[in-house]
Amino acid sequence: MSESISEQVVSLVGQSVDEQRLLDTATLLVGIPSPTGNAGAVADRLAELLSGEGFAVERPVTGHPKSPAVVARFDTGKPGRVLQFNGHLDTVHLPFVPPRIEDGVMYGSGVSDMKGGVAAAVEAMRIVRDGDLLSSGGVMLTAHDLHEAPWGDGTQVNTLIAEGFTGDGVLLPEYHCHNCPVVGRGQAMFQVRVARDGEPCHEVLGGIEQPSVISAGAQLIGRFSALDRELEQLTHPLAGRESLFVGQVHSGEIFNQSPVELVLEGTRRWLPGNTFHTVRQEFESILSEVADATGTTICADFTESRGAYEVDQDDPLVRSFQAAVAGVSGEALPVGAKPFVDDGNAFVALGGVPAITHGPAALGAHTVNEECQVAELVRVASVYALSAIAFCQAGTVEEDA
Ligand SMILES: [Zn+2]
Repeated sequence: MSESISEQVVSLVGQSVDEQRLLDTATLLVGIPSPTGNAGAVADRLAELLSGEGFAVERPVTGHPKSPAVVARFDTGKPGRVLQFNGHLDTVHLPFVPPRIEDGVMYGSGVSDMKGGVAAAVEAMRIVRDGDLLSSGGVMLTAHDLHEAPWGDGTQVNTLIAEGFTGDGVLLPEYHCHNCPVVGRGQAMFQVRVARDGEPCHEVLGGIEQPSVISAGAQLIGRFSALDRELEQLTHPLAGRESLFVGQVHSGEIFNQSPVELVLEGTRRWLPGNTFHTVRQEFESILSEVADATGTTICADFTESRGAYEVDQDDPLVRSFQAAVAGVSGEALPVGAKPFVDDGNAFVALGGVPAITHGPAALGAHTVNEECQVAELVRVASVYALSAIAFCQAGTVEEDA
């Protein structure tokens, strides 16, 4: 059985995690501010650290010269699968909180999202290399900027994938750990602008003669609600249903003035099997029908965040990862869905590389109160090292094909 892990290996890996070295790495990464778009300094420092430790490091520019990506590899020299660990080094734009560790908890900007997880992945690479624990294949770490919206657009990881910086499977140490996510919905964000010609004017000075952007907006919302009710029928046993959600509407200035614009924002989520192209066409046809019916002009930004994806539950990545989790925690995780979109969607949807998001049970992502238990970082380092051992021992890629 290719993905079994002996108790002996589990305990060897457990003993090999160097907690202080892991925390030093996490402290180093968290200590360098890296708001999205400006992760160059932390990427440079990570690259220096890894090459100083003897890993083969590359810095592909990947469309972002301010902060080239970091690619580090450990290769056994024997043909076999390569397990990739991928993380983003950028953090949301909030006031910087320096790293500190108190009573077994680490605090600071990005410790949860997701420098703590990246440090755990680095520790896993050290463990499998220093212990000579891979029988074939290798591991690679990729780290990048431009993840967090709205400041980043995900293009750096897309370029990494397009340029072939991928393994045969990828683990992403984001703060998600209650299930083994094998499916995720695609997501598009939209901003619709409904406009009429002319200037804003008083209701009694021609206002009531104007096309109403507000009633056009109301019609749009009605059509969107009707579509959302239809989408309730499109379900997946793990990932739930497709949806069209409106989260913001703005129009008008004062009660008796005819406005010239209405803005409406929301999301469209879809299941594997459906495509961005199809959902966009369906969305745009509603816009043009309502524009025609109301004498308004309606245009929209309808932007794909990430595509939908699904990983075969029998994929060697899933089996290896679950064997690793079972080794560390006593039992495998329930198979489930990933509620949010992340870079894992891109690896599967754009690169055809199976991906699992799994990281520490950290708190406070996207706030100034990020915190992560040190024990969770240690656990993730073990799970990642054991996943690599199981994934890379299982014969060659050719055997799989
Ligand atoms: Zn993140």
